[in-house]
Amino acid sequence: MAENSRRRKWTTRHVWLYRLFLAALLSSGHLFSACRAELVASAATAPIDPVLQRIWQSATASDAAYQKLIELCDDIGHRLSGSPQLDLAAAWAVKALRQDGIATARLEPVMVPKWLRGKESLQLVAPRAMPLVMLGLGGSTATPVGGLKAEVLVVRDLAELKTRAAAAKGKIVLFNQAMPAWTPQHGSGYGDTVQQRVHGAQWAFEHGAVAALVRSVTAQSLSTPHTGGTRHQGRGTPVPVAAISVEHAELLARFAARGIKTEVLLQMEAHEEEPAASHNVVAELIGSEHPGDIVVIGGHLDSWDVGQGAHDDGAGVVAAMQALATLQRLGLQPKRTIRVVLFTNEENGLAGGKAYFEAHKAERHVALLEADSGGFAPVGLGVHGKDDAGTAALAAWAGPWLQALAAIVQLQVVPGEGGADISPWLQLGVPNFGLVVQGEKYFDYHHTAADTVDKVDAKELARCAATMAVVAWQLAERPPD
Ligand SMILES: [Zn+2]
Repeated sequence: MAENSRRRKWTTRHVWLYRLFLAALLSSGHLFSACRAELVASAATAPIDPVLQRIWQSATASDAAYQKLIELCDDIGHRLSGSPQLDLAAAWAVKALRQDGIATARLEPVMVPKWLRGKESLQLVAPRAMPLVMLGLGGSTATPVGGLKAEVLVVRDLAELKTRAAAAKGKIVLFNQAMPAWTPQHGSGYGDTVQQRVHGAQWAFEHGAVAALVRSVTAQSLSTPHTGGTRHQGRGTPVPVAAISVEHAELLARFAARGIKTEVLLQMEAHEEEPAASHNVVAELIGSEHPGDIVVIGGHLDSWDVGQGAHDDGAGVVAAMQALATLQRLGLQPKRTIRVVLFTNEENGLAGGKAYFEAHKAERHVALLEADSGGFAPVGLGVHGKDDAGTAALAAWAGPWLQALAAIVQLQVVPGEGGADISPWLQLGVPNFGLVVQGEKYFDYHHTAADTVDKVDAKELARCAATMAVVAWQLAERPPD
């Protein structure tokens, strides 16, 4: 049902608006990083490339992507950088790709940061005693043994903290900015709200606070805390930082609004150890005409240390694997090389994406496509060029052939969407593409214990794999200039 909200009939007015939009992109210097214009690139009447149709039918008829996700999530589980599970996941992926007949599957070494959570807890001490639901944030430092006991200062954001700077000294600051509900026009609002998670510890430290708490970055909550990365220099944040559930952020805010002082005891053992050995997984089908031209499709193999990393990003991993397996099974050899890369350490360092770029930047890459928005129904293709003109040119390239695909899948062009792991290639002008999926529920599960395989629909995941396969094929056959 939600899926339909973003899929609109392709009317004459839409065609006209789409052309107008493309013209505007081509002529303006406007930056559209957050743009999610409702542009449905579809035309049910255009003829479909029979090879794309064959790929689509084969991939959507199979539940192999879902079976792979079950193996990754149930047999291995979550996969934090530096963990034994992440090593197991890389070995599993190589084995699974080889079992699908892709003999080139291999590991490439990458050193990754190794952050460990340890034991952690948060107790409300005053006005009454009760445990609070929390998850330390990645990169956090530990509290002193025995914990930090301090009064809580509730602020909405950095702007409010600045106006109440004198009150922050010696306190634990709670950043309580709510994430807006997802809408088809504006997406999730994650980009704005996540700032408190990324910078909260630094902001609190700069104002003399002893620790930071952050309202979980989600619009929906069932008392589920959401972890995630923080920006920090060296080993760990300047003060300890943890996410708390939306419900408990609201509770502390209600006490504050009534003028009732709250005191909490925060105990965390979080710390960073020496960097650890890890791997990207790389596998390819060699191109028949231009084997030196490379199209990358991928996702990231690591996850946070809670849940199963099913949507984030087990789904992207198995979709990319299954896309390549589908081409292999159909005996299709692309003109250009199609390479799967499963990146390590996306969540807390991007070491995999950076290492892949350093190791392969001398090779001619034609395009890169990443899936890292969950395994929901595909609704669009993100296009991201080196600059605005590059992005507009990619949108102009993608629009017509996405229209031609409309009889099998309706995908919008979404300017500005790519992927974190593939972003280093933008500096060389290599186009980035992103698989855009129905985004309504993603941030309900994102970085929580609830990101498990049961939240992924097998048919929607198969459509992700199919979309990656047809986009990869198109890029390898008829790439943008
Ligand atoms: Zn991710």
